[in-house]
Order: sequence, then C-alpha cells, then structure tokens
Amino acid sequence: MTFDTFLMVDWSGGNDRGPTPKKDAIWVCAARDGTVDEPVYLRNRQVAEEWITTFLATECAAGRRVLAGFDFAFGYPTGFGKILTGSDDPFAIWNWFADRVEDASDSNNRFDLAGQINALFPGVGPFWGNGLKRDIANLPRKGLNRAGHGLPEKRQAEEQATGAFPVWQLSGAGAVGSQVIMGLPVLSRLRKHFRDELKVWPFEALDQPIAIVEIWPSLIAKAVAATQPLERIKDAHQVWLLAQTLSRLDPEKLSEMLDVPVNLEGSIFGIDHVDMLTETALSTDTPPLRNDCFAMPQGAYWTPVEDALTHLKLHLTAVTGTETLPLTQAVGRFLAAPVTAKRAHPPAANAAVDGYGFAGPAPKGLQTMPLVAGRAVAGAPYPQAVPTGHAIRILTGANLPDGVDTVVLQEDVAAKPTEIAFHGPLKKGANARDAGEDMVAGQAILNVGRKLTPADLGTMAAVGVGDATVRQQLHVGILSTGDELREAGSKADDGQIYDANRPMLGALIADWGHAVVDLGRAPDDRSKLAQILDDGTARCDVILASGGASAGDEDHMSALLKDSGAFALWRIAMKPGRPLALGLWNQKPVFGLPGNPVAAMVCAMVFAAPALQLLAGGAWQTAQSFQIPAAFTKSKKAGRREYLRARVSDGKAEVFASEGSGRVSGLSWATGLIELGDEALTINHGDLVTFIPFSSFAL
Ligand code: AMP
Ligand code: MG
Repeated sequence: MTFDTFLMVDWSGGNDRGPTPKKDAIWVCAARDGTVDEPVYLRNRQVAEEWITTFLATECAAGRRVLAGFDFAFGYPTGFGKILTGSDDPFAIWNWFADRVEDASDSNNRFDLAGQINALFPGVGPFWGNGLKRDIANLPRKGLNRAGHGLPEKRQAEEQATGAFPVWQLSGAGAVGSQVIMGLPVLSRLRKHFRDELKVWPFEALDQPIAIVEIWPSLIAKAVAATQPLERIKDAHQVWLLAQTLSRLDPEKLSEMLDVPVNLEGSIFGIDHVDMLTETALSTDTPPLRNDCFAMPQGAYWTPVEDALTHLKLHLTAVTGTETLPLTQAVGRFLAAPVTAKRAHPPAANAAVDGYGFAGPAPKGLQTMPLVAGRAVAGAPYPQAVPTGHAIRILTGANLPDGVDTVVLQEDVAAKPTEIAFHGPLKKGANARDAGEDMVAGQAILNVGRKLTPADLGTMAAVGVGDATVRQQLHVGILSTGDELREAGSKADDGQIYDANRPMLGALIADWGHAVVDLGRAPDDRSKLAQILDDGTARCDVILASGGASAGDEDHMSALLKDSGAFALWRIAMKPGRPLALGLWNQKPVFGLPGNPVAAMVCAMVFAAPALQLLAGGAWQTAQSFQIPAAFTKSKKAGRREYLRARVSDGKAEVFASEGSGRVSGLSWATGLIELGDEALTINHGDLVTFIPFSSFAL
C-alpha cells in the first residue's frame, strides 16, 4: 500500500489559541517522499477544518494518495455505541456527535453533552471531568465518583499504550476526552465531504485516495525528545517528526502496520511497531535528493530571496554518511545522532567555594562550630558523616560529605585549628551545588543537526560522552568557468582576467567547515565542462561553480545542466546577483553562481551557506543580523532585495563608496553586508539597518 503524502494533525479540544503560534493548539505537518514541510499552526478548529479539507482536496486533485493521521481516538470502548446510537457502527457515533456538538471558537457544549450522554447510562459516568465553574448534571468532577455505568475504562489500544489516557476523562492535565468529542464531528464531515474517496482505519479497507488513521505521537516520544529543535514547539515537532517518519518508511512496512483486523473501537496506528517507528524517526539515512528539488513553482518571474531560501530549506537534506569521532576531532561537525548525558552533572552535590561545610541553615548572629578532623577535597570524598552542629574544612569541587549541605566562604570565617566562627544568617544550600543541577543522566543535551562548538565538547565531556556520531565532512568542489580566466600569479594578456572566485569561494567553504576540492578552471567548451562535472561529481558531494550561469551563448553551465534534466534557473529578485543556476549532475547538486566576484560571493553567502549546511547534515540556519544606525543615505525601489558591502565604524554602518558589482576590492573593505528588504526604502542617517557580519553566514 503506497501513499504519496502524509499529513499529521495534532488536534485540540480547547478554545482559540490566538494568532501567535502556541502549544496545545492545532498543529499540522505534511511530508512527501521523505521531505517535510514546516509545521503549520492553526489557531482553532474552524480554521483547521477548512485548511485540512482544502489540503486533502488539493492532494486528491493532483492524483496523490494521502495518509492523514489525527491524534485522538476514533472510537469508544465496546458497548458505548450500542447504547448511544443503537448500533455498533463507529460512524454512527461520529454522526451522533456531528449532529449535536456546537463549536464556536471561544465556547462549545462538550461538557453539557457529556452530562447528557452519562444520563443514558446506568449508575454514574462514564464521562467525567468538568472544566467549567458551573456544575453540570450527571457529569462528576472526579473519576472516582463514577459507579455502575457498565463500560470498560479503556479501549484495547489504551490498555496497550502505556501512558495513554482513557477517552472518558474530559479535563485535567493530559486528558484527551475533549479532543475526541470535538474532533469526531470534523472527521464525520470530512467523510461526508470526500464520500467514497476517503476511508477510515481500522474500520474500512483503505482502497481510496485518502486514508484516515488514528495516531498517538507519544509512541515516538523518545525520538521527539531527542530531535526537537530548541526553537520549535513540541506539538509542532511531533507532527513534523511523525510525518517525516511515515513518509520515509518502506511501503511494505507501512502496509504491515496498516494491516490489522477490523476493530470497531479503533486503534492507535503503529502501536505494535514502536521500536521500528522510533528507529526510523532517529535514522540518519536520508533519501536521495529528488530530481525536482530545484523546481520552482511556475509563474513568478523574479523570485523573492525569501521564497528561494524557503525552497532550499524544504528540499535539501543531508547527503553525507555518518561516522563516530572522538570528541577531540568532532568540533565543527554536524551531529547525526542526538547526544544524551551519560551521567549527571555535577555527578554529586559539591562545594562551590573553598570554605567550611555544615548542615544549614545558620541562623542570624555569631555562630561557632567545632571542626571535625580532616578535610573534604575534590577527588577524595570525606568518608564519614559530619555530626550535626559540626563543620568540616571543604574545598571547591569536593563532594559534600553526609551531614553537610551548606558551605560558608573561607573569607567570611575566623578559623582556629579546632573551631570556626562566622556571622549568620546563611541559607541552607548556600555555596553548594546540587547533583544534576546542570544536566541529569539520560537527558538529551544536543540535537541532531547541531554544528558542534568548542563549548559543546566541554558540555559532552562533562557528562562522560567521549565520542559523537556526526556527518562525514561535505566535500565541495570549486570550479570557475570562462575562457578569459587565468590563474593569479601567472601571465595574463589584455583580454584575460585573473580567476578571483576560486580562491575566494574555496576559503569561504573551508571557513564554513566543509572539505574543499579544487576542480580548477573550465573553458567555455561544453564537452570539456561535462568531463569536469563528471570528474567533480565522482569526487565531491556538491559542486559550487561560478560563471556561465545565465542563458547567454557562452553560458555552458546552464546549457549542460538543462540537458541533464534536473535543472532550474532561478531569477532572484536581488542585487547584486543575476540568475542562479541549480541542477543535479549525476545525482549531485551543482550550484551555478554568477561569475562576477561580488555577486558570486554575495550569492554564496546568502544561498550556498545555508544550502551547504543542510547538505552537510546541519539544521537550517538564518544568518544572525544586527540592527545598526546607518552612516549613509540611500533610496531604493520596491521589488528586490539589496545587499550592500558594509562595515561598522563608531557603532554605525557605513557602505562602500561604489555599489558597482565589478569592484571586488569593496568585499575586502567590508566586514559584512547590509540587507535592505524587498520593499521601497529611503534610508537617512541614523536609521536602523540590518547588518550581517560575513562570519554570521554559516556559524
Ligand atoms: P559570466 O557569469 O560567466 O557571464 O561572468 C560574468 C562576469 O564575471 C564576466 O565579466 C566574467 O569575466 C567575470 N568572471 C567570471 N568568472 C570569474 C572569476 N572566476 N573571477 C573573476 N571574474 C570572473
Ligand atoms: Mg563566462
């Protein structure tokens, strides 16, 4: 059974969460062929229903089969439906709720409805939990107040899934009951809308374009925790990872997971395959780049910089293998597996200063304490307990002996050989560090995609991690094209110019942490260039070429890549920069930068830096910028982004005297770029402008 598109939905039973992305809202994420979109935030169920309906319709219209997962129970424990609807058909329950749930973005009738349902059953229950202040007839506030309703507490699925909540609980931390009541009407309407094109697992055979399955992201909680980027909300990351994981699964495994006996309570998709899902979610294998990875949507003649960047972000993935390196060799590499702490840091409670340890707190006023013999020093724990009321000489980093939780600084103490005196008060725990206050054992400390910094090596070493699973270095081939080019240092005629790009781009790439492979200069000769590309792609993971990228007579790079099939010429709305040629040669990406050195360097920093970082296994990165007052004036028209060579002097940003893109010396003069947005702008002295240091382009 194959699906082209995977849509994962993290539902919510609560009210509108507002325009700013938040947790506990509805998050959706789609993946196709192993490539995942960014998670989408949907503020309430009305917006979500419309978004999902449109999404499914669009995929169907494009002839793509969709597997859509929703994170709430599709059914109730056996026996519920019969009493509620007179039938065991789960869809009768869906329709029952669809007919009765009233859902506005700021209020709904779910608690009243649950009370009304409870009244249909003997005893008290099964629903419980009331999120409202007012009491609701027949809806107990506590689960323990239920009795004699005659239904099982859990479905088979919740029995099996440790930590899954029963569908009866409507409120309180972790409760899922409300999501179910507020979700089933939406599924009921999706079914009616898509009719025969939509089938529901595990109630029906999935022989139609859309399959709906019940998911529970906590199944892969371990992988979620290990891979969640700091800046991404957990709910968002869960759907992202699940969408990616399912889309990367071998179709046979997927079929196996879907192949369960019909079950009218519903079940959790993947519940019998947790290890396999987790392994796939954490897998460092990435799918090969797709032939259409550089294909831009048609229509836009000038592509905004932001759209071009988003395209690269969504379509490029790591292309290098992995290796395990000792820490001393791992700096600058990209993590291919999460790092977890092997032990706590600090491993035991210890002294933060040199001084005297005792059992705190010490009250106000002069304190005297007898000293025990001996001392506690780092590396040699004091073997006995310190009796109450006594103190011990202790040095920084020494484990606190039994009976000690507080340390008084030696400078604050008058010490005699057998006694100390100091002025209180001193809080319990003063000048002492708790075990694990920094990191606890088993904690995920660094995520996949992180470029290891010197500090990271310290952090890892502190918790006993001696090596790291990282991506192999990305090998980037550097190539200049053009008959007019000569090597610097050699003789050149009038009609010839020196190759400025290769040394410049090579150094840039090395600075970014990649391995540079010098592919030399290529003449304006198609078959020779093809040979060089063949040789280059055999030795490199990616090629960064400059020159010959436009559509002119001598633009052989474009012409060749075009013939190879996977080619796109991006006309980017920016200055400097002409078209960017992107393509695959022997399945390896080739970036054709403009030949003009200023444009080549700016395009390399703006586009190649983040793109190469993704190919190298890093996370997507936006260059760090600073707002700095302008020491210049300028006006620009709307419709393109501009990058000016700039440097900071006296806290102000000044720009190079000429914007002429032929003046390569301006790149040396500058220490960074000023980025001016796509809109029309007039900049006066003192206006804040965005300055990006050259070093920020690939941190
Ligand atoms: P092209 O994109 O090949 O049309 O080149 C645009 C301009 O940049 C021409 O003036 C080229 O001579 C110049 N150029 C191309 N490659 C380089 C290079 N590697 N170093 C310096 N200038 C170059
Ligand atoms: Mg040329």
